[in-house]
Amino acid sequence: MKLKSLHNNESFVVGYSFQCPGCDCLHIFYVRGNVTWTFDGNIELPTFDPSLRLDWKEDDKPQCCHLTLTKGKIKYHSDSTLKMSGQILDLLDHPSP
Ligand SMILES: [Zn+2]
Repeated sequence: MKLKSLHNNESFVVGYSFQCPGCDCLHIFYVRGNVTWTFDGNIELPTFDPSLRLDWKEDDKPQCCHLTLTKGKIKYHSDSTLKMSGQILDLLDHPSP
């Protein structure tokens, strides 16, 4: 399993988490709430639209993870500060059962 669904108190699916190999942690595509992505419903080879961008600072230096998930493949945009910037990687198995 590559995606894990997240639920709210009424058991609606609010988003899907996945392991980001670039950041080595989980990111979430939300499908309910203020900021949402469209999901094609394919759990094995998911496509979310539009891209996901996270910005943070590490030792005062701006960091960026900017990716698009299409048909189960993560494309890291060239503005990412990660070492796999510009690469396309397969989605990993989700780390939590
Ligand atoms: Zn990331």
